[in-house]
Amino acid sequence: MTEIDLLVRAEFLYPMSEGLPIISDGEVAIAGGRILHAGPRQPEGTWQAQRVLRGEGRAVLPGFVNCHSHAASLIFRSQTDDHAAKAALLEVAFRMEKDIAEEEWALLAEAGCADMLCSGITTINDIWYAPDRLAETVERCGLRAQIAHKVFDVRLHELWRGDYTHHAEIGETRLKDGVAFAERWHGTASGRISARIGTHATDTCSAGLLREARGEANRLGVGMHIHAAQSLGETEQIRAEHGCGPLEFLRDVGMLAPDVVLAHLVFAGAGDLDAVQESGAAYAHCPTIYPRRGRYPPLDDILARGIPTGFATDWMMNDPFEGMRNALNAMRLRLGDPNALSCAQALQLHTMGAARVLGLDAEIGSLDTGKKADLIAVDIDRPHLQPYYGGYAALVYYARASDVVTSVIDGQIVLEDARPTRLDRDRAIATLRGRVPGWRARLAALGSRAVFGPGCPCCG
Ligand SMILES: [Zn+2]
Repeated sequence: MTEIDLLVRAEFLYPMSEGLPIISDGEVAIAGGRILHAGPRQPEGTWQAQRVLRGEGRAVLPGFVNCHSHAASLIFRSQTDDHAAKAALLEVAFRMEKDIAEEEWALLAEAGCADMLCSGITTINDIWYAPDRLAETVERCGLRAQIAHKVFDVRLHELWRGDYTHHAEIGETRLKDGVAFAERWHGTASGRISARIGTHATDTCSAGLLREARGEANRLGVGMHIHAAQSLGETEQIRAEHGCGPLEFLRDVGMLAPDVVLAHLVFAGAGDLDAVQESGAAYAHCPTIYPRRGRYPPLDDILARGIPTGFATDWMMNDPFEGMRNALNAMRLRLGDPNALSCAQALQLHTMGAARVLGLDAEIGSLDTGKKADLIAVDIDRPHLQPYYGGYAALVYYARASDVVTSVIDGQIVLEDARPTRLDRDRAIATLRGRVPGWRARLAALGSRAVFGPGCPCCG
């Protein structure tokens, strides 16, 4: 009999291992935070487990890896969803963010982490303001995270006027803070937290700042994270300033490398994708945000090129199941082909694919012996999942984030009965609720459309 910490049983086990088998009546044995066995249920007496989680009515799979996120961005929920990228970011978000206090970011980070955990996400790759506040919450709540401070050298809040002037002093200060954050947090929380250097976007960083940031990332031995070819305005600005596409620009300044996570690539041209492919840089694809803004990136071309790709939630909406379905629908519409993307492939892109994007595929992303024990259990007894036949379609087409009842990260139970075990979810929500009137007034003053009042399409 082998002594273990935790035995997680499953009516259906989706290990996302090589060959993508699904195992009926499976189990995952966990000791010292790692997987000792993931496969068919072993005979009684094999394990002496400190704790056993029941398998009836449970589908167990690797936790979702979210390779591009902004946990604290929920402040903008329902306020920018119907805007084009330019209006959402330049006119509302960037101008509002400037005046949000560190203490407000802390509240938002806590609510954002609760949302990630409750949605079955076990790893995030986050770039935002107040990264220390997010790291503190991550350390406490048990998530796994790669975190970057937001580095740029324009006045973000002035971009809406078309002012792209680069200010060296802004870049120096923000890069210094990003480096200090990485020095404080990289490798902490028993290795659950790592840092990246987060140069915000191709049009909000000068060539000089990107080169300096690349140098600092190399010196620290950490990866980088950037928004690239996110909007039409960005690609036009780069062409006007540098005479090339945004990814060609990143290649020319020497930033692209396998440790770079590129979010979006919505407006990437063939020359841009060549640059990404040649560099080995990785791609974070955010299937929920693109359809809302009316343009879907060439995911088929990107996958065919062999660019390491994973799914992510980006901002505000963190339901990985909805994200996978959005990708399936969008790709089928884009190509006019009902087989354009498969359910198994979509789930693979949100687990192993995204783990590879973050350079973590040797440690997480699938339930294989020796890997870290990051997994979730889905309650398959819910009415909208009946009858549950157990294939990939049953899970990917029909499950919802709110069906996730258990989450284990590093072998620790961090979500149980659909509630975070180390975060007070109800207190976090109650605190946010009290801030709504103030935030709503500030958003309305910036022209956010979805506010109560004249001209709001919801209220007439
Ligand atoms: Zn983003």
